[in-house]
Amino acid sequence: MEKSISILVVGGGSAGMVAAITAARQGCTVTVLERMQRVGKKLLATGNGRCNLTNLHCTPENYHGGYPGFVESVFAQFDVPATLEFFRKLGVEPRAEDDGKVYPRSGQAASVLDVLRDEMDRLGVQVIAEARAQSLIRRGSGFECHCTNETAWSAQHVILAAGGQSTPNLGSNGTGYKLAQQIGHTIIEPTPALVQICLAAPFLKHLAGQKLQGTASLSADGDPCGSASGELLFADYGISGLPILHLSRHVSRPPRDGAAMVLQLDLFPEWSVEDLEMKIQERIAAAPEKTAEFCFVGLLPKRTIAVLLREAGIEDIQRPCGALEAAAVQALAKLLKGWRIPCSGTKSWMDAQVTSGGVHVREINPETLESKCTPGVFLCGELLDIDGDCGGYNLQWAWSSGHVAAIHAAKMTQL
Ligand SMILES: Cc1cc2nc3c(=O)[nH]c(=O)nc-3n(C[C@H](O)[C@H](O)[C@H](O)COP(=O)(O)OP(=O)(O)OC[C@H]3O[C@@H](n4cnc5c(N)ncnc54)[C@H](O)[C@@H]3O)c2cc1C
Repeated sequence: MEKSISILVVGGGSAGMVAAITAARQGCTVTVLERMQRVGKKLLATGNGRCNLTNLHCTPENYHGGYPGFVESVFAQFDVPATLEFFRKLGVEPRAEDDGKVYPRSGQAASVLDVLRDEMDRLGVQVIAEARAQSLIRRGSGFECHCTNETAWSAQHVILAAGGQSTPNLGSNGTGYKLAQQIGHTIIEPTPALVQICLAAPFLKHLAGQKLQGTASLSADGDPCGSASGELLFADYGISGLPILHLSRHVSRPPRDGAAMVLQLDLFPEWSVEDLEMKIQERIAAAPEKTAEFCFVGLLPKRTIAVLLREAGIEDIQRPCGALEAAAVQALAKLLKGWRIPCSGTKSWMDAQVTSGGVHVREINPETLESKCTPGVFLCGELLDIDGDCGGYNLQWAWSSGHVAAIHAAKMTQL
């Protein structure tokens, strides 16, 4: 059966729901097609179930992709204050925490989804669940979209909001790229981002679960790619933590094929190598009879000490620390300031919070988010080659781009 509507939104995620609400508020009849059993499944998982819905310090510099400056005109039309106002009017009281991260006061991602669904209901947005769009073609002055559940939908305009490829169990499995390709778009190869980094190191099983504070820097064939500070969490496959998520895009998308990616950890960024060497010598002088291993209890997490000593070339960790040669102390201080570990890749799509890559934004009008390849279709959210830092930036992109796509799609509908 074919049904006619003014705007068809493909994908009922964060961008799609805001697009549907915005278009319906402009007086359009809107239908949302969602491949999962219900809309907003990924939203429920955001911010560890608390939904870090935006960030007060959001700037274009927080975004990445082939042309990250593309976000500017979108944010100029729907920025963080406008987003907070949008959610406040729906009943979500925002609460800012450290680093400008904003969460709903309820502390529940479910409440953000509840108010979005309630608003879609109130506005008469039709949501069709378990409907995976598989083809999109121009038909007359509008479009026709066929779903795997044998339904076909015709609409004056289409908003593609099918997300990227990360966490396919939560909905977005890359099928949006196929739809975009059908209407003439180029896809920048999607790779996992905001994901844990796998390390090639024999000691990982001894470090699994250990947390260290420090600065992580990444290099490709010796060329620096970036650095970030914070908590570093070791696991049996490698390492995670905010600084690692931040750097991960360079590992999944290295600057050159086959580049040797190396992570370097500075576990004492507040001290120089010389300061650290002096501190170690002071600890040794205070209790030279302690074993080399015990000497560092209180300075480093206990389970990390044996690994770090061995990495610095100190094999006999049970000998009195007073017997450590000056060269061994120096080697240890150097290691703690610049521990180099080769990367072997990243965890998979199932673990990635976002997708780097996607629809080439040069093919999209940055003011309206309308496709230049197929006018009348608008694209938004993670489907595009735009991804943000960790900390509320990705949802902000979804809200802003969903809103802007819908405003312009609705305007066209009314022409
Ligand atoms: C575990 C986790 C935690 C996160 N936490 C945060 C956070 O706290 N803050 C933050 O800013 N970002 C966070 N993110 C990232 C953020 O959730 C995404 O960037 C954002 O949801 C992207 O919105 P979107 O609408 O573009 O895509 P999605 O939310 O992925 O929505 C796309 C929707 O389209 C549907 N769909 C796909 N293909 C089709 C098709 N062919 N037909 C019909 N429907 C289709 C999917 O089922 C899905 O519902 C997190 C991500 C994950 C995985």
